[in-house]
Amino acid sequence: MQDETSWTTSLLARIRRERPVLLAAILSALVAIAAGMNKWAVLVLLLAMILTALFNEAPVIKAEPVEPLEIEPEAPASHLPDVSATLASLDIPVMVLSGDASVLFQNRAAEKAFGEVALGAHISARLRSPGVLDMVRETIATNAPNQIEHSERLPSERVYIVRSAPVEFGAEEETRERYFILSFRDISEVRRIDRMRSDFVANASHELRTPLASLRGFIETIQGPAKNDQKAQARFLNIMLDQATRMSRLVDDLLSLSRLELKSHIAPDEKVDLVPLLGHVRDSLVPLAREVGVEINLHLPDGKVEVLGDRDELVQVFENLMENACKYGQEGEIVDVWLKNGAGQPVEVSIVDKGPGIPAEHVPRLTERFYRVSIEDSRSKKGTGLGLAIVKHILTRHRARLIVKSEVGKGTDFTVRF
Ligand code: ADP
Repeated sequence: MQDETSWTTSLLARIRRERPVLLAAILSALVAIAAGMNKWAVLVLLLAMILTALFNEAPVIKAEPVEPLEIEPEAPASHLPDVSATLASLDIPVMVLSGDASVLFQNRAAEKAFGEVALGAHISARLRSPGVLDMVRETIATNAPNQIEHSERLPSERVYIVRSAPVEFGAEEETRERYFILSFRDISEVRRIDRMRSDFVANASHELRTPLASLRGFIETIQGPAKNDQKAQARFLNIMLDQATRMSRLVDDLLSLSRLELKSHIAPDEKVDLVPLLGHVRDSLVPLAREVGVEINLHLPDGKVEVLGDRDELVQVFENLMENACKYGQEGEIVDVWLKNGAGQPVEVSIVDKGPGIPAEHVPRLTERFYRVSIEDSRSKKGTGLGLAIVKHILTRHRARLIVKSEVGKGTDFTVRF
């Protein structure tokens, strides 16, 4: 249908174009007939002229292939896609801002940390902190990098070093747009570790200060009022020996902890048979158990029960746990030690006492350094408050877990699961 229409249109156009020729042909034919020529011959001639005028195609000029014109590509109007693609895979939150501080792009990490932001929105729609906004304004005005510390409360408490800086392109890559990068370095973990370290130093100094003050007091007494009192001096010297021993226990525990921290990432690979190891620990604690009136019963399977570990460290773990069970569970008079090695089940060692138990609110904090349910009770039992922290460190290195179940009035079960 469309072909038909275009054919008619082109025929009409040709008639219009060849109109003078056609008119001339018709006039000549009429003159020839009037002059007495054979009218049929004249008509045939006329028809031939008309057909030639209308349907004789003009010679087709074949298009010669021409070399394509080389058009100089224009300098890219926007570098944003390149900049964004590079930043997308970074694992620290990053935003790209325009010269009027609108957010043109934010990477996944930024979305995760601050939620989605409508692209093109002003940065103040996302970050309300006047400090950050002032810094961005200054960087845009001066084209110089700046940084500031900024805390976010939601969704969780985080501290960031926020840095704003212009994106510098090479001189030959001038663009019309100006871009600024806003990056967020999360220092929350560093801050937490700093706080822990300073708490630890404060706690350790406090623990050492008490026996030191007591030693100093006794020395002054022996030098002064008790100068000539032999009996008092002997008594005081005994107490001083206790205090000095307490300090050296504390220093030993502190050194143990720092040694463990140094190798915490290296998993031990020695095969250790727990059957003789638990027997050895029990034997070494018999004098202490006897002193506090406790009996330690071992329940061991036949044969070997091997785990990958460091023998000395595992001795330290079970010594600490059995000693605690004897000291704090002494009123139960019995401590049971179970070694379980069921087929397809993890190896477990449980140290169970029938003592007073531990109130539930204390259980999650027992492995913190210097955490004690009762400071007086721990001190009177020669505790440093570091025993379970050491246990936890060793078990972490052994990829093992400490599970504590306790019921007030019934007793406590410390289970090590390998
Ligand atoms: P400490 O040197 O004081 O014994 P630990 O880290 O070994 O330090 O233990 C921390 C605290 O946990 C102890 O002070 C004690 O209050 C509590 N605790 C540990 N084991 C037991 C237990 N078997 N029964 C009751 N309380 C316990």
